[in-house]
Amino acid sequence: MKVVEILFYDSNHVKLVVEMPDPNCYSTRHAPHIPKLLFKLFPHLARHRCENDNGFSFRRECQATEIPHLFEHLIIELQGQVLRSGTLKGETQWNWRVDPKGRFHVYVEYENEILVLGAIRVAEKIIQALDRRDVESISVDEEIKQLRELARFGERLKGVRQKDSVAMEMINA
Ligand SMILES: [Zn+2]
Repeated sequence: MKVVEILFYDSNHVKLVVEMPDPNCYSTRHAPHIPKLLFKLFPHLARHRCENDNGFSFRRECQATEIPHLFEHLIIELQGQVLRSGTLKGETQWNWRVDPKGRFHVYVEYENEILVLGAIRVAEKIIQALDRRDVESISVDEEIKQLRELARFGERLKGVRQKDSVAMEMINA
């Protein structure tokens, strides 16, 4: 799975275009080891709310869901662990009548622009590593620690930008 496009919009949403290298292997049915390992690394994922056609819990849904849907929840989980809140939402869509098979559109909310960028990259890395069954290469604690630093940087940047816009308004006044 690979993120090929990132688009920020509406000040708190990001849209990702995600592609599967093998368009016929996009479901956890083809890779049951991915959700199994992911829930081990991130037990809190089992408590995620998930709206799906079957009305399943997220854990049950993960037995047969699109890998990018897992990725969506992981980006939300990583941000939630850093922000210590669980209010962000997401959605995964696809339409292979329009797009090539294996392409997905993943939408996620964010509070901190730099944090969400980091979370996207970390989530992509984790899904790819789990796909290779390479759990040893992942340290969740270390990743969260680094994401916290990114979040602090993002907060400072937000502060600088607000000061900038105040300064601009004073110049314009
Ligand atoms: Zn879901």
